[in-house]
Amino acid sequence: MSAPITQDVMTIPRKLPAGPINLVGLTRAQMRDALIAHGTPEKQAKMRTGQIWQWIYQWGKRDFADMTNLSKAFRAELAENFVIEIPEVVSKQVSQDGTRKYLVRIAGGHEVEVVYIPEDSRGTLCVSSQVGCTLTCSFCHTGTQKLVRNLTSAEIVGQIMMARDDLDEWPVPGTRTVSEEARLLSNIVLMGMGEPLYNFENVRDAMKIAMDPEGISLSRRRITLSTSGVVPEIARTADEIGCLLAISFHATTDEVRDTLVPINKKWNLEKLLEALRAYPRVSNSERITFEYVMLHGVNDSDEDARRLVKLIEGIPAKVNLIPFNEWPGAPYKRSSNNRIRAFSDIIHDAGYASPVRKPRGEDILAACGQLKSATERERKSRAQIAAETGL
Ligand code: SAH
Ligand code: SF4
Repeated sequence: MSAPITQDVMTIPRKLPAGPINLVGLTRAQMRDALIAHGTPEKQAKMRTGQIWQWIYQWGKRDFADMTNLSKAFRAELAENFVIEIPEVVSKQVSQDGTRKYLVRIAGGHEVEVVYIPEDSRGTLCVSSQVGCTLTCSFCHTGTQKLVRNLTSAEIVGQIMMARDDLDEWPVPGTRTVSEEARLLSNIVLMGMGEPLYNFENVRDAMKIAMDPEGISLSRRRITLSTSGVVPEIARTADEIGCLLAISFHATTDEVRDTLVPINKKWNLEKLLEALRAYPRVSNSERITFEYVMLHGVNDSDEDARRLVKLIEGIPAKVNLIPFNEWPGAPYKRSSNNRIRAFSDIIHDAGYASPVRKPRGEDILAACGQLKSATERERKSRAQIAAETGL
C-alpha cells in the first residue's frame, strides 16, 4: 500500500468505504478503479484486473493466496484491502427429480432462494434479483412477501458462483471452461424472487460478468430475463444487457391482467406489446417467450387462446404454458391437463411453439412462483401493497 495515486482522479471514489471492499460484482472498470485507489500503479491496473478477474470468475478462487501469477507482496496488499465474498448457503434441498433448491443468506440476515434445474441437454439456474417483490401478482407466492431490498450485483452473480461451487464446476486453474453444451450449469433464467427490471443496474452488471468471456462466459443467448412488464426498461434490456426476454403475460384482456399482474394498470397490454414489437433480435431464433400461467376458469378458455394468438401476431414468439403451482392459501386452482392441452393446441396450430412447462421440484416448493424465504413469511397488508405499488 505504498504506491502514490497519481492520475485519473476523476474515476477514483472520493471517499473509500470503511473496511475491505468486496471485489465480486464490480465491473471491470470499477475493479480497476478500486485497485488504483488502493495503490496499484495505474499502468498496471488493467492487467492486474484481468488476472484477478480470471482467478475469481474463471477458476472460482476466493483466496488471494491462490493467485499464483501475482507477486506475494501484491497478494498480501490485496488481502489487506479486499475480500472475495459470495452469499452463504444456509440450506440445500434436493428434489426427487434432481432439482436443487438453495436458501442463501445475504448481508442483513436476509435470505433468498436459488433453484438449479438439471435437464437432459442443459442445466438451468433460476436466480433471484430482489428479496421479496414490490409487485403483487395475485397468483405468486413471492408477491405476498414484502420487498426487503434489491440484491447487489455481487449477490446476484454470487448465486451463480455458489451453484458452480456446489456442482463442482470450476475448471482447473490455467485451463478453459468447458463448452457451454457440456456444462452442468449452462443456462440462467432471472425468474427467481423479485422483478429484475426494478433492480436494473445490479442485474445488468451481474449479467455482464456472467457473460464475460474471461470468466463464467455464458453466451447472452443462454440468459433469459423474465419481467412482469416494466415497459420503460424493456428497450434498455436489449441495449445494455442483450439477453433473451420472457414476459409474464398471463392474460388476454386488460381487465383480467389488471387483477393477475397489477403492473398492467400502469402499462397495459397495448403499451407492453408495443415495447415487445420493438425488442431487437440478432437472429430469428431469438424469440420472445410469453409465459402464461394456467389458472382454472380464469384465463384458460379457448377464447383466451385465440385472443392470445391475435395479440402476439407478428412477434417472433413462443408461448410457455405454466401449470399453476399451488401454495398454501393460494386463491386459484391449476387448469386440468385436458384444458392445458386444448389451449396449447390452438396456439400451436397458429404456428407458435407452445410447450407446457413441466413443474420441477414441487416436493421441495421450488417450482415457479413458490419461492419465498422462511424469514420473510409475513403476509403483506392491503395498505402495504398500496403504498409499495402506488396502484
Ligand atoms: N418477477 C418476474 C420474474 C420471476 S417469476 C416476473 O414476474 O416475470 C417467474 C415466472 O413464474 C413468472 O412468469 C411468474 O408469473 C410465474 N409464476 C409466479 N407464480 C406462479 C405460480 N404460483 N405458478 C406458476 N407460475 C408462477
Ligand atoms: Fe413479483 Fe414476478 Fe411474483 Fe409478480 S410474478 S409478484 S413480478 S415475482
